[in-house]
Order: sequence, then C-alpha cells, then structure tokens
Amino acid sequence: MSGPLGRDPGGEPDRPPLIVLCDVTKTYGAGAGEVHALRGVSLVVERGEYLAVMGASGSGKSTMMNILGALDLPTSGRYLLDGIDIRALDESQLADVRNRMIGFVFQGFNLIRRTSAVANVELPLVYAGVRRAERRRRAEAALAAVGLSDRLHHQPSELSGGQQQRVAIARALAPDPAIILADEPTGNLDSVATAEVMELFARLNDQGRTVITITHEPDVAASARRVVRLRDGSVVSDRRQSPVRSVPSPAGEGVDEAAGAVPG
Ligand code: ADP
Ligand code: MG
Repeated sequence: MSGPLGRDPGGEPDRPPLIVLCDVTKTYGAGAGEVHALRGVSLVVERGEYLAVMGASGSGKSTMMNILGALDLPTSGRYLLDGIDIRALDESQLADVRNRMIGFVFQGFNLIRRTSAVANVELPLVYAGVRRAERRRRAEAALAAVGLSDRLHHQPSELSGGQQQRVAIARALAPDPAIILADEPTGNLDSVATAEVMELFARLNDQGRTVITITHEPDVAASARRVVRLRDGSVVSDRRQSPVRSVPSPAGEGVDEAAGAVPG
C-alpha cells in the first residue's frame, strides 16, 4: 500500500504514516523583512524510522523541528501527525497531542536546576496527571533505560553534560511518546558523551521507537538509518543508509518486509 506521497516503506496497512509533511512552507516576518525558512518541504516518516535532518546553520532545521513537534504551524502546506491534521486542532488539543506523541530533547538539556534527576524526569508525568507512586516508578524506569539508576537523586549541577542529556532523554521517554524529537542533542557535548547519546538513540530505535534528530555533525547523522538534508529551506537529499526497523503492530504481528537484518 502506498502512502499519500507514494511511499510507504515501513508502514502497516491500516495505520497512517506517523508523519506526513506535504509542501510545507514557513515564512517569518512580512514585506522586506520576510524570511522563507521552509520552501515547500514534503516528507513521510514511518513508525520505527531513525531519521537525521542535516543542514548548515540557517537552513531551516529548527523551524522544521518546531513544526514536526507541533510547537509551531506551517505558513502553508499540510502536516499530518499520526493521521491528524495539526491545523484542525485548538491549543488544548495541540498540547494534548504533543504530550502524547512527542518527547523533546534540546541542545541545552533544559533541566530544572536544584532539582533531582528523578524529579526532572517526573515533570511531564505531573502534567499528564499520573499519580505520585506511578510517576516515581516510571521515572526510575526511564532513568534505568538511559543507564542512570545510580544518579536518581543527583541535581543537574552534579552531573556531567552527557549525563544531563541522558536525564533529558529519560524525561522525554517517561510519557512513552511515539517519537523522540531532538534538536542538536549533542551540540554541547564532547565526543565521548556524543557517542553515548548516539548509542542510546540507536538502542531506543532498535526497541521500536521513532527517533528524529537534527544535527549538523556528520558523525551523528552516520548513526541514523535515514538522512534528510536541508539547504536554504528545501530538502536537497533524502538517503536511506539502513533499513527501517520493523515495528510490531498493536496485535503483535506483521513484521514489515522492507526491514532487513538490523546491523550490530
Ligand atoms: P537552523 O536550525 O537550520 O539553523 P532555523 O530554522 O533556526 O535554522 O532558521 C531558518 C531561517 O529562519 C534563518 O534564516 C533564521 O534566521 C530564520 N528564523 C528562524 N526563526 C525565526 C524567527 N522566529 N523570526 C524570524 N526569522 C527566523
Ligand atoms: Mg537550529
């Protein structure tokens, strides 16, 4: 079966692609000060993909991340997130879709100071109305998943940059979102911590999580399964470097045929 843009490499027959961008533009400002940050981007991302979006500074990467994350709306074009037309939602529906679907990871970690790792990770669960004991259990599990079970009660200032980013990834994971969406997640990290974060993303993807990371570092893009390049607001290349990981369907069956052996 073919998706709306004619490709459906990792899709399941009766579920829409996770992400469909259709001729999306974003223009900031007006008149002489207009900036065309995105100039007609079309993209389909299936469940289980691990996508890196690359491009020079100013090419539109963060603009695209903000749209993918439903933090901002396109100027024109369509964005379907799990089949839902984002434009049709009001603010509270948008917030709800965002909380349910997307775990954000930023370059600057955005952790709350003087607050323990486990309390930071619990925060999105507080917003989601999860009760205290369940919150703590899920936050501890998320920190275990990023290898930080021994740092639950450390504050951000007591952690290395790489550990802080792993706490931020645990926070993104705790609500169990469909997509991890990261903007330059290794931009503030040294090479060792960068490798740790890349390994973690690869592992999350192996477990079936869809990962989209924005980066201008070739090393980081190399660990992704697919690389999309932006130049001046347009997609100039879209290359698959390893197959989409197969994602079990809700019924627990249906391994997708496009996915071959997972390397490593
Ligand atoms: P990247 O993340 O690839 O560096 P951005 O998406 O941040 O690129 O920016 C793309 C273009 O849009 C740049 O020219 C930038 O200056 C411009 N831009 C980004 N955000 C805004 C904004 N809020 N208002 C005006 N121009 C913006
Ligand atoms: Mg940016």
